[in-house]
This record gives sequence, structure tokens and C-alpha cells, in this order.
Amino acid sequence: PQLQPIDLAGYLPKVGAMVENKATVHGIDLRCEVDAATPMVEADPGQLQQVMINLLNNAIHAVVDRHGASGGVISVAAGRDERDNAVITVTDNGSGMSRESMSKIFLPFFTTKAPGKGTGLGLSVCHSIIDSLGGELSVESRKGEGSTFTILIPGLRTRT
Ligand code: ADP
Ligand code: MG
Repeated sequence: PQLQPIDLAGYLPKVGAMVENKATVHGIDLRCEVDAATPMVEADPGQLQQVMINLLNNAIHAVVDRHGASGGVISVAAGRDERDNAVITVTDNGSGMSRESMSKIFLPFFTTKAPGKGTGLGLSVCHSIIDSLGGELSVESRKGEGSTFTILIPGLRTRT
């Protein structure tokens, strides 16, 4: 991996734009809001992109599953927590999942998608990438309501 400082305020909207067409086609309202206090992070831009695109594609799938052609909302937000981590959330109002599913989604090959539609590898790869940055990837979800994936990445210390 090629670690470099990343300014999420510029980076996240660019990554969001990569799935904008797909979101629009499905009538999804895709939002992105980065708080001014969000710290820089050190990461491989390609790997972080892979994580975000995986989460966004899963979110699109979940909202289309629940809402069909309109009514889907996906929000990407970023900010800082009290430990100076960058916190990135991807929230959708899609199909959500049961507690049972939630406990398995980070395992390789777990998928609820039709054969050939999903490998079940996306989230396990996301989890290892975020782990390798000393961060955490977690999920909160309610079946029939939606899901929030939260990425914590240690903030880059600014020199004083
Ligand atoms: P795949 O997308 O190939 O199924 P993933 O590892 O990306 O593999 O996701 C595993 C499973 O986690 C999905 O099949 C789905 O059941 C569940 N999942 C992931 N993201 C969401 C989401 N945003 N909403 C509801 N379920 C989700
Ligand atoms: Mg996936």
C-alpha cells in the first residue's frame, strides 16, 4: 500500500461522484457532508476508495431492494471524534439486516445476494483494509429500516 495524507473534504465527494450516475439511475438521493473539523488521515487512496465504493454499492443494492426506483437516500458524512479519529459514516434507508446477518457480514463469502450477484468478499476486504490502518469498521442496522457503516481511522497528528 502507498500510504499518503488524505484530506477527506476533497476526497470523499470525488469518491461519491464515482457512483453518482448509478445512484441517479435508481432515483437515489446521494448526499455527502464533511465537517470542517475532520482530521486528515494517512491511507492508500486506492484502498480507501475500494472500501467506500464497496460500502456505497452495498447501500445502493439495499435501497433498490427496499424502495425500487425512488425513495432511496444514502448519506456519506465525515467528522472527528473525541479521540481525534476521523469518523466516516455511510447511512442508507435500505432493507437493513437482522442481528443474525449483522454478526456474519464481515466474514469472507457471506452473502445474501443471488448466486453470481455477490461474492460475499466486499466487506471482509473492507474490514482488513481499515484494520491495516489501525482503524475500525462497524455496522448498525435494523431490518426494514436501514443501515449505517462507520469507519474510524486515526487522525494524522498536525505538527506543532
Ligand atoms: P456481497 O455484496 O457480495 O454480498 P459483501 O461482503 O459486500 O458481499 O456484503 C455481505 C452481505 O452483507 C450482503 O450480501 C448483505 O446481506 C449484507 N449487507 C452489506 N451491506 C448492506 C447494507 N448496506 N444493507 C443491508 N445489507 C447489507
Ligand atoms: Mg458487496
